[in-house]
Amino acid sequence: MQPIIIVGSGMAGYTLAREFRKLNPEQALIMISADDAVNYAKPTLSNALVGNKHPDQIALADAEKMRLQLNMRIETHTRVEQIKVEEHQLILSKDQQQQSLHYSKLILAVGANPIRLPIDGNGRDDIHVVNSLNDYRTFRETLSRSDKKRVVILGAGLIGCEFANDLQNTAHQVTLIDFAAQPLGRLLPEHVANAFKLGLEKTGIQFILNTTVAQINQQGQDGYQIRLANGDSLTADIVLSAIGLQPDLSLTQSANIEVSRGILTNPLLETNQPDVYALGDCAEVHGMLLPYVMPLMQQARALAKTLNGEQTAVHYPAMPVAVKTPAAPLTILPVPPHVDVTWETESFEDGMLSKAIDTDGTLRGFVLLGATAAKQRLVLTKLVPDLIPIAV
Ligand SMILES: Cc1cc2nc3c(=O)[nH]c(=O)nc-3n(C[C@H](O)[C@H](O)[C@H](O)COP(=O)(O)OP(=O)(O)OC[C@H]3O[C@@H](n4cnc5c(N)ncnc54)[C@H](O)[C@@H]3O)c2cc1C
Repeated sequence: MQPIIIVGSGMAGYTLAREFRKLNPEQALIMISADDAVNYAKPTLSNALVGNKHPDQIALADAEKMRLQLNMRIETHTRVEQIKVEEHQLILSKDQQQQSLHYSKLILAVGANPIRLPIDGNGRDDIHVVNSLNDYRTFRETLSRSDKKRVVILGAGLIGCEFANDLQNTAHQVTLIDFAAQPLGRLLPEHVANAFKLGLEKTGIQFILNTTVAQINQQGQDGYQIRLANGDSLTADIVLSAIGLQPDLSLTQSANIEVSRGILTNPLLETNQPDVYALGDCAEVHGMLLPYVMPLMQQARALAKTLNGEQTAVHYPAMPVAVKTPAAPLTILPVPPHVDVTWETESFEDGMLSKAIDTDGTLRGFVLLGATAAKQRLVLTKLVPDLIPIAV
């Protein structure tokens, strides 16, 4: 029998391998990774500076350790170039050499790529993104070289705000720029976003909202000049882009794998092509794109069972996300798209609790700002209906 092949060594790929090995210690398993396949927890990247964490301390295990731990062949620095679905075959490239491998089942865990803003100027290629341990390594090295410390972050979403808080806590001067009128635009009602913003501003973080960056130019020893779409400008030593991620769909077209915003799958994580599955940040499961850790864990558990012969649909309970901003600690249970809600808010001395109630009076999401509200997390989560029920 041909091996099961997992493409991608991120949290999705490794969690699936681990879950599968719990059920099946022997079946041949291969992981193909375009990078070094070091195992690490990506969420730690946006609060690692404050603990002065070297990238090697964030790495949990290298490919060799993972190979032994999971009894799995791991091909590092190897890119899948093409999927031949009828032949159940992959075309790979490593060191500019082509190889091929056959699979019995193929799992795409190829993640998502940072979105790039169309920015002019001779400084645009110096913009950092942090979507991998290697990106973090480069970013940290640049920060340590800079004697000035002015950091501009493009995007006041979840990841932009987390980096802002982490950088401010390590004596940087941070400015967040966002096209939206508030931070965490799509996730928070306005009144909570304002209180959250105030919490970050108290630490010295500055916000420039309702505009975007048009041009970035180098200014010799004096960093970069950043021109905004509204005509204003500012200077910075380092620019970090955190405007969002886009599922990696590059392998799908030639294989006729259906996509929408992500790789489309049903609740069994099956794509439209036989024996090809997808999970993690690249996958749009049952119409939902949820690029967070808890959903990928649910997916991995279900898919491991299916690969072991027990067809299992993914079950999504309500899954809150903790935002790692100690200056304004926030927990969000996002409201599913296309659900109409009204917000009911209770204020506390250190924050607030806002419940999203739908037209039937059911709790569909919430935001908890501050330590007092955070205590309600478990109780409230239990009241929110599952996104995908256990049996589909
Ligand atoms: C800074 C940051 C902080 C975050 N914080 C949180 C948080 O607090 N809570 C939370 O729930 N979520 C958080 N997230 C999101 C979470 O980390 C992701 O949902 C998760 O790590 C995605 O894992 P993945 O395996 O799907 O993708 P990735 O980690 O992107 O892995 C994709 C893998 O595929 C490989 N690959 C791609 N194409 C190919 C190819 N053609 N051939 C071979 N290999 C290929 C890549 O090399 C890589 O190994 C955060 C994300 C970031 C960036």
